[in-house]
Amino acid sequence: MITGDSGFLKEKLKECGYKFTGQRSAILEALIQCTGQHVSTEELFNMVKVKHPEIGLATVYRTMILLDKLGLVHKLDFDDGFSRYELVKPNEDHRHHHLICSSCGSVSEVEEDLLDSLEEQILKKNGFLVKDHRVQFYGLCRNCRG
Ligand SMILES: [Zn+2]
Ligand SMILES: [Zn+2]
Repeated sequence: MITGDSGFLKEKLKECGYKFTGQRSAILEALIQCTGQHVSTEELFNMVKVKHPEIGLATVYRTMILLDKLGLVHKLDFDDGFSRYELVKPNEDHRHHHLICSSCGSVSEVEEDLLDSLEEQILKKNGFLVKDHRVQFYGLCRNCRG
């Protein structure tokens, strides 16, 4: 568990002029519990409502849109019909890549960037400076390969 995250997120919210309300803090807490996972709004809502039955799905939904706007979470679409979110890691300047198993639906992460040489080539050939990317690989995970 990364305990520094909560403070970092709180500061960022305040910096951007948003109040750190009890509801937002409850939602952030649930998100921090899911560090390293890719959770849907509904999943977060189900976690939050255990301790905070007063928080509605619409509030969770709006809070996630706000956190995405502030760059605190990444919104992900794994083509499974849900919007998913993950906390942005404090020292991550590029997004990590996702490996999506088309058999069991599991999602794992590739921590290494691996794209430095590709980005260099793009800069040389196209004069385009890559600042970020979204890479999703579809295939079979280790378990499903049998
Ligand atoms: Zn699988
Ligand atoms: Zn991820």
